[in-house]
Amino acid sequence: MPRYSAFDRFTIKAAVKAAELVMAPANRREVFEQFVLTVTAVTDLSEHMRRITFHAPELASFSVTGPDEYFGLLMATGRELVMPADDRINVRTSLRAMPEDVRPDLRWYTIRAHRPSVAEIDVDFVVHGDAGPGTRWARRAIAGDQAGFRAGGSAYRPPSEGPVLLVADETALPALAAILEVETRPAQVFAEVPDESYRVDLDVEWVYRFSGKPGSAVLKVLRDKALSTVEYGWACGESGLATGVRRHLVKERGVDRKAVMFSGYWKAGSARM
Ligand SMILES: Cc1cc2nc3c(=O)[nH]c(=O)nc-3n(C[C@H](O)[C@H](O)[C@H](O)COP(=O)(O)OP(=O)(O)OC[C@H]3O[C@@H](n4cnc5c(N)ncnc54)[C@H](O)[C@@H]3O)c2cc1C
Repeated sequence: MPRYSAFDRFTIKAAVKAAELVMAPANRREVFEQFVLTVTAVTDLSEHMRRITFHAPELASFSVTGPDEYFGLLMATGRELVMPADDRINVRTSLRAMPEDVRPDLRWYTIRAHRPSVAEIDVDFVVHGDAGPGTRWARRAIAGDQAGFRAGGSAYRPPSEGPVLLVADETALPALAAILEVETRPAQVFAEVPDESYRVDLDVEWVYRFSGKPGSAVLKVLRDKALSTVEYGWACGESGLATGVRRHLVKERGVDRKAVMFSGYWKAGSARM
C-alpha cells in the first residue's frame, strides 16, 4: 500500500474542503490503487460507443466508492507501458516526474460495470475520431492489449431522501446508467446527445444537440419545464453543459449549491488530461 506524504494529504484535504464550499460532496478514497489492465473483449454498442472489458487480478479486491466510479486510464506512448510511481496522491505529479519519451497518456473514464468474481470491468468509450489519445486507443484496442489503471473516486452522493435531477451527455451515459441501476428516489433524468444515433437503452428524456453548443439544447428544455422539487442535482458531461445546468439549478431554481454535483468530463476544443 503506498504511503503518501503529509504534504500530499494536506493538499488534497484542502482541495476537497474548497470544493465542498461550492458543490455537493463527492465520495473520496484514501488509497489510489494502481495496476495494469489487460483487454479481454471489445464490443461495439453503437457506431459511437465501444465497450472494452478489462481484466486484472487486483480487480477482484478493488471496491468502488459509488455508482459513477471513475478511474485514470494510462496509455503507453512508447513501445512499452511504463507506469508512474504510485507514492503521490495526484497522479499528474507522478506523470510530470517521468521522462517524456516513456510518460503514458492519461484520460478519465467511468467503470460501467465491475465484476469482482471474475476480476473484470467494462468501460464504455465514446469514440470521436482520432482527435485524442483516449479515442485513438479505444478505436485500436484488441484483446491482449494492456493499459494502466489509476483509481479515482465517485461523485454521486445524494442525501438519503428526496427527488433528484440527473443530466448527462454522451460521455456521462455510462455513469448515468450505473446510477439508474441503484437509484430508488424519484428522478427527473435528461440526456443530451448529438443526435438519435447516440441513444442507448435507457429510460430518460432524450434531448438532441444537433449542431448547437453542448448544453444549449438541454438548458432550453430545463428552462421550459415545470420541474418538481429538486433535493439534489447531478450534471456531468461537456464542461459548458455541466456548468450551465449547475447555474440554472442554483440561480434560476434556487437549489442549494451544496446540493448540486457537476463535473466537466470534457471541454469542446481542448484536450482533457
Ligand atoms: C470523471 C470522468 C468520467 C468520464 N467517463 C467517461 C466514459 O465513461 N466514457 C467516455 O467516453 N468518456 C468519459 N469521460 C470523458 C473523457 O475523459 C473525455 O472525453 C476525454 O477528453 C477523452 O480523451 P481523448 O484523448 O479522446 O480526447 P482529448 O485529447 O481529451 O481531446 C482531444 C479533442 O477531442 C475533443 N473531445 C474530447 N472528448 C470528446 C467527445 N466525447 N466528443 C467529441 N469531442 C471530444 C476535445 O474537445 C479536443 O478537441 C469521463 C471524464 C471524466 C472526468
